[in-house]
Amino acid sequence: MTGKNFFDDERRRFEDAASEELRVELAAEGETQVNIYLASEIEGLIMSPYTLGLACPSLWELPQIQSVREKRGRKGRTATPINDRVLPQNRFGLAMFRGACVHELSHHLDWRRFVSAHVGTTQSIAATTEAITVDPSKWSWNNEPPIWKSHEYGFIRCALFLSDRMSQRGVHVNWLSDLIPWGEYGYKDPIGYAETVRQEISDSRDKPLGEILKRLAPKEMVKLWAIDAGAQLLQKVEE
Ligand SMILES: [Zn+2]
Repeated sequence: MTGKNFFDDERRRFEDAASEELRVELAAEGETQVNIYLASEIEGLIMSPYTLGLACPSLWELPQIQSVREKRGRKGRTATPINDRVLPQNRFGLAMFRGACVHELSHHLDWRRFVSAHVGTTQSIAATTEAITVDPSKWSWNNEPPIWKSHEYGFIRCALFLSDRMSQRGVHVNWLSDLIPWGEYGYKDPIGYAETVRQEISDSRDKPLGEILKRLAPKEMVKLWAIDAGAQLLQKVEE
């Protein structure tokens, strides 16, 4: 393969800033580096055009991922591929890239509050891709999880905090447009969600993120989420 990928510099900048920001959380698992992969560099990885990124511990087991990691001289297991093939190669694409990186890392942070990083290692890449890719037009009450599945209030909270931390480090993320597809997930009031954690975010910037995220989510955020999620389920039941 020749030539540099358009997203390579942005990826390195993101990895450096995220590794620094999450050093306490990574160290707790014997890690030092966050790794972002580009879908186009992983042999045989097919990602749906609806999917911007994947976050699953099982990805680490893929030999294709390990070979990219070795080629890049990176350490660490956190494996988050971003679908660079569907992103425009301009400043909008770079902004979407950063948003997708924070989104996927927030899944890792959210899961780590409950489970070890090794959960799910037997899941195949096909199953992982299928599980995470949700085409809204194919959703049905009987056989699909709700579209917000794995994007519950705990995830939203992680994503808003991490987005702020990365922006503080000069890796600006537009949480309103690039972090979460709010409308698509049925979240009607993104500014309302952000408002519930605004004070806590600005008061806690000097503390490790993992420590802050161990606290319970604010009740106002849980309520907003419960209303949005309930409305979506109700609509599906009544269809
Ligand atoms: Zn997600």
